[in-house]
Amino acid sequence: MTDFPLTGGCNCGAVRFEVCAPIPIASYWHCKRCQRRSGTAASANAHPAEGTFRIVDGEDKLRMWKPDDGGEKWFCGRCGSHLFGRNPAHPDAIGIRMGAFDGNPGTRPSVRQFVRYAAPCEPIPDDGLPRNPESRHARIPADRDE
Ligand SMILES: [Zn+2]
Repeated sequence: MTDFPLTGGCNCGAVRFEVCAPIPIASYWHCKRCQRRSGTAASANAHPAEGTFRIVDGEDKLRMWKPDDGGEKWFCGRCGSHLFGRNPAHPDAIGIRMGAFDGNPGTRPSVRQFVRYAAPCEPIPDDGLPRNPESRHARIPADRDE
């Protein structure tokens, strides 16, 4: 059972967010950029419906890095927790880092992306999820990153 709003935040508690409706889709990202950003082999991201995600506290603590060829990566400037990515030009405009939810977000990743760059230290589990060498939206031009 999932209660709404879903809530989440960073390690130090400065930044808090919520999602007010069920999340349509979530995905694993295996790109090197997500590996470096998260310090893990893959990053699980939940993609909320438009207008259902908001920062409820600590907006002034948020910091962002935007690579030239990718979307914004938002994190807490105090504790360093990565919280979400944003790219208005992308079909999945918001990617909430799933480890940042307080409880059960009510959805699980249903697809893997950028598996061409998967970390050699952690083989991709044989879980039957679709595996895309690049973005799952690879038919869309200039869609290299979230
Ligand atoms: Zn923090």
